[in-house]
Amino acid sequence: MSLVVMKFGGTSVEDATAIGRTAAIVAGRVAAGKKPVVVVSAMAKVTDLLLRAGTSAAAGDKTGALSISSRLRCRHRDTAAALVKDPKETAELQKWIDAKFDGLDEILRGLAAILEMTPRISDLIVSHGERLSSRMIAAAFRERGINTEAVDARQIILTDSQFQKAMPIDAAIEKRAEEQLRPLLDSGKVPVMGGFIGSNEAGITTTLGRGGSDFTAALIGGALNAEAIEIWTDVDGIMTSDPRVCPDALRVKVISFEEAAELAYFGAKVLHPATILPAVKKNIPVLVLNSKNPTNEGTRIISLAPHCKTPFKSIAVKKKLSIIDVVASRMLMTHGYLKEIFTVFDRHQCAVDMVSTSEVSVSLTVDSTDKLPAIAADLSKLADVKYEGKKALVCMVGEDIRGQNGMAAQVFGAVKHINVRMISQGASEINMSFMIDEEDADEAVRSLHAAFFQDPDPEIFDVEARKAAFSS
Ligand code: ADP
Ligand code: ASP
Ligand code: MG
Repeated sequence: MSLVVMKFGGTSVEDATAIGRTAAIVAGRVAAGKKPVVVVSAMAKVTDLLLRAGTSAAAGDKTGALSISSRLRCRHRDTAAALVKDPKETAELQKWIDAKFDGLDEILRGLAAILEMTPRISDLIVSHGERLSSRMIAAAFRERGINTEAVDARQIILTDSQFQKAMPIDAAIEKRAEEQLRPLLDSGKVPVMGGFIGSNEAGITTTLGRGGSDFTAALIGGALNAEAIEIWTDVDGIMTSDPRVCPDALRVKVISFEEAAELAYFGAKVLHPATILPAVKKNIPVLVLNSKNPTNEGTRIISLAPHCKTPFKSIAVKKKLSIIDVVASRMLMTHGYLKEIFTVFDRHQCAVDMVSTSEVSVSLTVDSTDKLPAIAADLSKLADVKYEGKKALVCMVGEDIRGQNGMAAQVFGAVKHINVRMISQGASEINMSFMIDEEDADEAVRSLHAAFFQDPDPEIFDVEARKAAFSS
């Protein structure tokens, strides 16, 4: 069975026009004999606004919170009205949207009374985005002749109880997808479900972390052994850098799972870092495609990409990082000392991105700012501690970087006007990273891009598109 999972991000469902485009893309796949499972994000910016409503309410600003909710209610009602014309379906949908917002307003009023927001309530609040979009999009698909069934993702994506960053329970998801999605597909239906949201054993709503709809798509693809997982977004694919930073970024035609995972982890927002995992497990290709330019072939992520003559495939940047310097002249190289340092990070459940040691100091980078004071207080029992925020990690990804002589000299030559704070090449053969001040990040990426993507391998990069852009 040619089953494909098609995930549409916030911009692909941002308004009635975008949802219309999305419906046409799905209808095209059905007409080509495919069996799609559709996973949708909340409409663009809705998750941010829901979070803002929650934090405002918990800070005592009930009026502000309810006014955000009221604007979101109007936006969903208007979009639904523009999409669904059948009177019975419209009436039902509008009533359902109102009921959801009435419930949300009640939660916000409650938060404004107790003046406290917990991760569990935050997940319940933000889940409204995907619950609303999926139901509305399913109705729009039906009206456009697609045989659709809306599915509540929380019935399928079982997770643990780490609210805001829940981990999926694969075996249960496989079982539930087989029981609930497979029969729909067998009867010729297109299931439409929200990404990002799930629920724990007790049925309490959880989320997979920001950008998590990509992860949902991959989990469903893995559970049902899909032939492909398609991530539909607002750019032509994985590019040689964020096109918002480098307008001349090129589309990468093909890239390996390993390289894509590295890029996603180190900040290329186009893919959620966990997306690749389920795909790797079942060796399912992932395609990154543009819903505003659906005929473009996008990026194909596969287990073994063809050899690339250009050293790097793409440059990613992770911002909002901090560096912690731990200085202890006497104890540093003594047995068990590093273990003690890492135990502190472990205790605070804080992941470390990069580590570098000198004779008297250890420098570590982390992406959590709220935990820093407590971590520093614990570390100061072991040594002198300093920390500094507003750092950015630039990560160059390409195959076999270690095997290429003089590569580090070329990289640092390209950014010699920028103060580099930490460097790491580590054991990974496909990643070279360094840490700089956040304010230098865009300039560093542009300099590196200019240095390394002048003469790109046409087998791997869409050189034609750049030529066409320059000649027009
Ligand atoms: P969606 O809402 O569809 O999930 P996202 O906003 O999460 O979309 O991701 C798409 C965005 O990722 C693009 O608009 C682009 O600005 C950004 N981005 C960052 N790095 C890259 C990259 N290397 N290639 C493509 N897009 C990138
Ligand atoms: N709506 C969620 C977010 O904005 C999940 C997603 O879009 O992937 O983070
Ligand atoms: Mg995304």
